[in-house]
Amino acid sequence: MEIVKLSPSVADNIWGGTRLIDEYGIKTDKRPAAEAWVLSCHPSGPSTVMNGEFAGKTLQEVYLNDKSICGEKGERFEFFPLLIKFIDAKRDLSIQVHPDDEYAMRVEGEYGKTEAWYILDCDDDAELILGFNKNVSKEEFKEAAQNGDIMNICNRIKVKKGDLFFIESGTMHAICKGILLAEVQQNSNTTYRIYDYGRLGKDGKPRELHVDKAADVTKLCPPDLTPSDKRKKEILDGAVKTELTSCDLFTMFKLDVDGEHSFNVGNTSFVSLLCLDGSGEVCCGNTTLSFVKGESIFVPASSGKITIKGNLEILESTL
Ligand code: ZN
Repeated sequence: MEIVKLSPSVADNIWGGTRLIDEYGIKTDKRPAAEAWVLSCHPSGPSTVMNGEFAGKTLQEVYLNDKSICGEKGERFEFFPLLIKFIDAKRDLSIQVHPDDEYAMRVEGEYGKTEAWYILDCDDDAELILGFNKNVSKEEFKEAAQNGDIMNICNRIKVKKGDLFFIESGTMHAICKGILLAEVQQNSNTTYRIYDYGRLGKDGKPRELHVDKAADVTKLCPPDLTPSDKRKKEILDGAVKTELTSCDLFTMFKLDVDGEHSFNVGNTSFVSLLCLDGSGEVCCGNTTLSFVKGESIFVPASSGKITIKGNLEILESTL
Protein backbone atom coordinates (compact mmCIF):
# COMPACT_ATOMS: atom_id res chain seq x y z
CA MET A 1 0.00 0.00 0.00
CA GLU A 2 1.27 3.47 -0.88
CA ILE A 3 1.44 6.45 1.50
CA VAL A 4 -1.98 8.04 1.96
CA LYS A 5 -3.48 11.29 3.11
CA LEU A 6 -6.31 10.84 5.62
CA SER A 7 -9.46 12.89 5.95
CA PRO A 8 -10.57 13.18 9.61
CA SER A 9 -13.85 12.62 11.42
CA VAL A 10 -14.88 15.69 13.39
CA ALA A 11 -16.63 15.76 16.78
CA ASP A 12 -18.79 18.75 17.77
CA ASN A 13 -18.52 18.47 21.58
CA ILE A 14 -20.01 21.48 23.41
CA TRP A 15 -16.64 22.79 24.64
CA GLY A 16 -15.02 23.11 21.19
CA GLY A 17 -14.15 26.14 19.06
CA THR A 18 -13.62 26.75 15.34
CA ARG A 19 -9.83 27.09 15.18
CA LEU A 20 -9.42 23.67 13.56
CA ILE A 21 -11.53 24.94 10.66
CA ASP A 22 -10.16 28.50 10.56
CA GLU A 23 -6.46 27.81 11.17
CA TYR A 24 -5.87 24.11 10.48
CA GLY A 25 -7.92 23.71 7.30
CA ILE A 26 -10.15 20.98 8.73
CA LYS A 27 -13.17 20.59 6.44
CA THR A 28 -16.49 19.99 8.18
CA ASP A 29 -20.03 21.33 8.45
CA LYS A 30 -20.01 20.74 12.20
CA ARG A 31 -19.89 23.65 14.64
CA PRO A 32 -18.09 23.70 16.93
CA ALA A 33 -15.23 21.55 15.67
CA ALA A 34 -13.97 20.31 19.01
CA GLU A 35 -11.94 17.32 17.83
CA ALA A 36 -10.58 16.17 14.47
CA TRP A 37 -9.67 12.47 14.48
CA VAL A 38 -6.84 12.68 11.99
CA LEU A 39 -5.70 9.07 12.26
CA SER A 40 -8.48 6.84 13.44
CA CYS A 41 -9.75 3.30 12.97
CA HIS A 42 -12.31 3.76 15.75
CA PRO A 43 -15.98 3.14 14.79
CA SER A 44 -17.01 6.40 16.55
CA GLY A 45 -14.98 8.49 14.10
CA PRO A 46 -13.01 6.75 11.37
CA SER A 47 -10.49 8.51 9.12
CA THR A 48 -10.93 8.10 5.37
CA VAL A 49 -8.22 7.43 2.80
CA MET A 50 -8.08 10.24 0.21
CA ASN A 51 -5.74 8.93 -2.52
CA GLY A 52 -4.54 5.78 -4.23
CA GLU A 53 -6.20 2.42 -4.76
CA PHE A 54 -8.07 2.60 -1.41
CA ALA A 55 -9.40 6.16 -1.88
CA GLY A 56 -12.83 6.50 -0.23
CA LYS A 57 -12.32 3.55 2.11
CA THR A 58 -11.87 4.03 5.85
CA LEU A 59 -8.44 3.31 7.29
CA GLN A 60 -10.16 0.63 9.38
CA GLU A 61 -11.32 -1.18 6.21
CA VAL A 62 -7.80 -1.05 4.82
CA TYR A 63 -6.36 -2.29 8.13
CA LEU A 64 -8.81 -5.21 8.37
CA ASN A 65 -7.85 -6.21 4.84
CA ASP A 66 -4.11 -6.09 5.57
CA LYS A 67 -2.92 -5.76 9.16
CA SER A 68 0.71 -5.75 8.05
CA ILE A 69 0.36 -1.99 7.38
CA CYS A 70 0.88 -1.62 11.16
CA GLY A 71 4.25 -3.38 11.20
CA GLU A 72 5.66 -6.01 13.56
CA LYS A 73 5.03 -3.96 16.66
CA GLY A 74 1.33 -3.95 15.74
CA GLU A 75 1.03 -7.74 15.72
CA ARG A 76 0.37 -8.01 19.48
CA PHE A 77 -2.73 -5.81 19.19
CA GLU A 78 -6.21 -7.15 18.51
CA PHE A 79 -7.38 -3.77 17.16
CA PHE A 80 -5.56 -0.94 15.38
CA PRO A 81 -3.45 0.40 18.26
CA LEU A 82 -3.45 4.22 18.02
CA LEU A 83 -5.80 7.15 17.60
CA ILE A 84 -4.49 10.66 16.86
CA LYS A 85 -6.53 13.85 17.23
CA PHE A 86 -6.45 17.61 17.20
CA ILE A 87 -8.38 19.10 20.11
CA ASP A 88 -9.53 22.73 20.29
CA ALA A 89 -10.74 23.50 23.81
CA LYS A 90 -12.50 26.84 23.69
CA ARG A 91 -14.08 25.96 27.02
CA ASP A 92 -13.13 23.54 29.81
CA LEU A 93 -13.47 19.82 29.13
CA SER A 94 -15.05 17.78 31.89
CA ILE A 95 -12.78 16.33 34.58
CA GLN A 96 -12.39 12.72 33.52
CA VAL A 97 -10.39 9.53 33.67
CA HIS A 98 -9.75 6.58 31.38
CA PRO A 99 -9.41 2.96 32.56
CA ASP A 100 -6.41 0.75 31.85
CA ASP A 101 -6.55 -2.12 29.31
CA GLU A 102 -7.46 -4.80 31.84
CA TYR A 103 -10.48 -2.90 33.21
CA ALA A 104 -11.59 -1.48 29.85
CA MET A 105 -11.45 -4.82 28.00
CA ARG A 106 -13.39 -6.51 30.81
CA VAL A 107 -16.05 -3.80 31.31
CA GLU A 108 -16.23 -1.94 27.94
CA GLY A 109 -14.86 -4.42 25.37
CA GLU A 110 -12.20 -2.06 24.05
CA TYR A 111 -8.74 -0.81 25.00
CA GLY A 112 -8.09 1.46 27.92
CA LYS A 113 -6.55 4.80 27.23
CA THR A 114 -3.11 6.10 27.92
CA GLU A 115 -2.64 9.38 26.06
CA ALA A 116 -0.15 12.16 25.45
CA TRP A 117 -0.77 15.82 24.64
CA TYR A 118 1.48 18.11 22.65
CA ILE A 119 0.45 21.73 23.24
CA LEU A 120 0.23 23.56 19.88
CA ASP A 121 -1.10 26.84 21.20
CA CYS A 122 -2.64 28.22 24.37
CA ASP A 123 -3.82 31.36 26.14
CA ASP A 124 -1.30 33.00 28.50
CA ASP A 125 -3.11 31.81 31.59
CA ALA A 126 -4.10 28.35 30.27
CA GLU A 127 -4.09 25.42 32.68
CA LEU A 128 -4.57 21.68 32.74
CA ILE A 129 -5.82 19.47 35.50
CA LEU A 130 -3.68 16.39 36.15
CA GLY A 131 -4.15 14.18 39.20
CA PHE A 132 -4.68 15.49 42.72
CA ASN A 133 -2.82 18.05 44.81
CA LYS A 134 -2.63 15.50 47.69
CA ASN A 135 -3.45 11.86 48.39
CA VAL A 136 -7.20 11.33 48.78
CA SER A 137 -9.34 8.39 49.91
CA LYS A 138 -11.95 6.75 47.67
CA GLU A 139 -14.76 8.15 49.87
CA GLU A 140 -13.32 11.65 49.73
CA PHE A 141 -13.01 11.36 45.93
CA LYS A 142 -16.62 10.24 45.41
CA GLU A 143 -17.99 12.94 47.70
CA ALA A 144 -15.83 15.65 46.07
CA ALA A 145 -17.00 14.58 42.59
CA GLN A 146 -20.61 14.93 43.64
CA ASN A 147 -20.43 18.24 45.52
CA GLY A 148 -17.89 20.06 43.33
CA ASP A 149 -15.10 20.03 45.93
CA ILE A 150 -13.04 18.19 43.32
CA MET A 151 -12.00 21.66 42.10
CA ASN A 152 -10.18 22.19 45.43
CA ILE A 153 -8.29 18.90 45.46
CA CYS A 154 -7.29 18.62 41.79
CA ASN A 155 -3.78 19.51 40.68
CA ARG A 156 -3.60 22.47 38.27
CA ILE A 157 -0.67 22.95 35.94
CA LYS A 158 0.21 26.03 33.89
CA VAL A 159 0.91 25.17 30.25
CA LYS A 160 2.81 26.76 27.40
CA LYS A 161 3.22 26.08 23.71
CA GLY A 162 5.52 23.11 23.06
CA ASP A 163 4.81 21.32 26.36
CA LEU A 164 4.22 17.58 26.27
CA PHE A 165 2.12 15.78 28.87
CA PHE A 166 2.03 12.00 29.21
CA ILE A 167 -1.20 10.87 30.85
CA GLU A 168 -1.17 7.26 31.90
CA SER A 169 -4.57 5.54 32.17
CA GLY A 170 -6.00 6.04 35.66
CA THR A 171 -4.80 9.67 35.89
CA MET A 172 -7.64 12.13 36.50
CA HIS A 173 -7.37 14.96 33.96
CA ALA A 174 -9.01 17.85 32.17
CA ILE A 175 -7.97 20.03 29.28
CA CYS A 176 -9.04 23.53 30.29
CA LYS A 177 -10.13 26.45 28.13
CA GLY A 178 -7.78 28.18 25.73
CA ILE A 179 -5.72 25.14 24.73
CA LEU A 180 -5.21 23.66 21.27
CA LEU A 181 -3.30 20.40 21.20
CA ALA A 182 -2.45 17.25 19.31
CA GLU A 183 -3.22 14.03 21.13
CA VAL A 184 -1.78 10.57 20.58
CA GLN A 185 -3.68 7.89 22.44
CA GLN A 186 -4.67 4.27 22.47
CA ASN A 187 -7.53 3.41 20.13
CA SER A 188 -10.30 3.82 22.68
CA ASN A 189 -13.26 6.07 23.32
CA THR A 190 -13.92 5.05 26.92
CA THR A 191 -14.11 8.10 29.18
CA TYR A 192 -15.47 8.24 32.72
CA ARG A 193 -16.70 11.73 33.44
CA ILE A 194 -16.07 12.76 37.06
CA TYR A 195 -17.21 16.38 37.16
CA ASP A 196 -18.74 18.66 34.50
CA TYR A 197 -18.96 22.00 36.37
CA GLY A 198 -22.76 21.58 36.53
CA ARG A 199 -23.09 22.30 32.79
CA LEU A 200 -25.92 21.22 30.56
CA GLY A 201 -25.44 19.20 27.37
CA LYS A 202 -26.94 19.97 23.94
CA ASP A 203 -30.22 18.40 25.07
CA GLY A 204 -30.50 20.82 28.01
CA LYS A 205 -29.78 18.11 30.58
CA PRO A 206 -26.63 17.61 32.63
CA ARG A 207 -24.22 15.28 30.84
CA GLU A 208 -23.96 11.86 32.46
CA LEU A 209 -21.30 11.32 35.14
CA HIS A 210 -19.61 7.98 35.81
CA VAL A 211 -18.31 8.49 39.33
CA ASP A 212 -18.50 4.84 40.46
CA LYS A 213 -16.53 3.50 37.51
CA ALA A 214 -14.12 6.43 37.87
CA ALA A 215 -13.59 5.52 41.54
CA ASP A 216 -12.64 1.98 40.42
CA VAL A 217 -9.86 3.18 38.11
CA THR A 218 -8.56 6.56 39.34
CA LYS A 219 -5.14 6.85 40.97
CA LEU A 220 -5.93 8.95 44.03
CA CYS A 221 -2.62 10.78 44.28
CA PRO A 222 -0.51 13.58 42.74
CA PRO A 223 0.65 12.90 39.15
CA ASP A 224 4.04 11.74 38.01
CA LEU A 225 5.33 14.35 35.51
CA THR A 226 8.30 14.22 33.16
CA PRO A 227 10.06 17.56 32.63
CA SER A 228 10.22 18.79 28.99
CA ASP A 229 13.89 19.84 29.23
CA LYS A 230 15.20 16.26 29.06
CA ARG A 231 14.29 15.77 25.38
CA LYS A 232 16.65 13.96 23.03
CA LYS A 233 17.39 16.11 19.98
CA GLU A 234 19.05 14.86 16.77
CA ILE A 235 20.41 17.14 14.06
CA LEU A 236 19.83 15.32 10.74
CA ASP A 237 20.25 16.12 7.07
CA GLY A 238 17.55 18.73 6.36
CA ALA A 239 15.75 18.26 9.68
CA VAL A 240 15.90 18.42 13.45
CA LYS A 241 14.21 15.51 15.22
CA THR A 242 13.21 15.77 18.87
CA GLU A 243 11.80 12.88 20.87
CA LEU A 244 8.80 14.18 22.83
CA THR A 245 7.84 11.01 24.68
CA SER A 246 8.17 7.26 24.41
CA CYS A 247 6.35 4.40 26.09
CA ASP A 248 5.59 0.77 25.19
CA LEU A 249 2.48 1.92 23.24
CA PHE A 250 3.83 4.78 21.13
CA THR A 251 6.69 7.18 20.50
CA MET A 252 6.20 10.82 19.49
CA PHE A 253 8.74 13.03 17.75
CA LYS A 254 8.71 16.62 16.61
CA LEU A 255 10.27 16.72 13.15
CA ASP A 256 11.27 20.17 11.89
CA VAL A 257 12.08 19.94 8.18
CA ASP A 258 13.90 22.73 6.40
CA GLY A 259 14.81 21.86 2.81
CA GLU A 260 14.86 18.15 2.08
CA HIS A 261 14.94 15.26 4.55
CA SER A 262 14.86 11.51 3.82
CA PHE A 263 14.46 8.53 6.10
CA ASN A 264 13.56 4.86 5.86
CA VAL A 265 10.33 3.28 7.12
CA GLY A 266 11.05 -0.37 7.88
CA ASN A 267 8.88 -3.28 8.97
CA THR A 268 8.73 -2.35 12.68
CA SER A 269 5.90 0.19 12.61
CA PHE A 270 3.80 2.47 10.48
CA VAL A 271 4.57 6.20 10.73
CA SER A 272 1.98 8.92 11.21
CA LEU A 273 2.95 12.36 9.94
CA LEU A 274 0.81 15.25 11.12
CA CYS A 275 1.61 18.69 9.74
CA LEU A 276 1.51 21.25 12.58
CA ASP A 277 2.73 24.19 10.53
CA GLY A 278 4.25 25.15 7.18
CA SER A 279 3.91 23.45 3.82
CA GLY A 280 5.75 21.10 1.49
CA GLU A 281 5.43 17.60 0.10
CA VAL A 282 6.02 13.98 1.04
CA CYS A 283 7.32 11.50 -1.56
CA CYS A 284 7.54 7.72 -1.48
CA GLY A 285 8.09 5.58 -4.59
CA ASN A 286 5.79 6.93 -7.32
CA THR A 287 3.54 8.81 -4.89
CA THR A 288 3.98 12.49 -4.06
CA LEU A 289 1.53 14.16 -1.69
CA SER A 290 1.30 17.86 -0.92
CA PHE A 291 1.40 18.48 2.83
CA VAL A 292 0.12 21.55 4.67
CA LYS A 293 -0.79 22.55 8.21
CA GLY A 294 -3.55 20.35 9.64
CA GLU A 295 -3.06 17.42 7.25
CA SER A 296 -2.37 13.81 8.22
CA ILE A 297 -0.34 11.32 6.20
CA PHE A 298 -0.23 7.60 7.00
CA VAL A 299 2.94 5.79 6.00
CA PRO A 300 2.43 1.99 6.08
CA ALA A 301 5.17 -0.16 7.61
CA SER A 302 7.83 -1.32 5.09
CA SER A 303 7.24 1.72 2.83
CA GLY A 304 11.00 2.23 2.38
CA LYS A 305 12.48 5.61 1.58
CA ILE A 306 10.39 8.67 2.42
CA THR A 307 11.48 12.16 1.35
CA ILE A 308 9.96 15.29 2.84
CA LYS A 309 10.57 18.63 1.13
CA GLY A 310 9.66 22.11 2.28
CA ASN A 311 9.49 24.00 5.49
CA LEU A 312 7.36 22.02 7.89
CA GLU A 313 6.76 21.32 11.55
CA ILE A 314 5.60 17.73 11.83
CA LEU A 315 4.39 15.52 14.64
CA GLU A 316 5.73 12.06 13.85
CA SER A 317 4.23 9.13 15.75
CA THR A 318 5.09 5.44 15.63
CA LEU A 319 4.41 2.30 17.64
ZN1 ZN B 1 -8.55 12.01 28.12
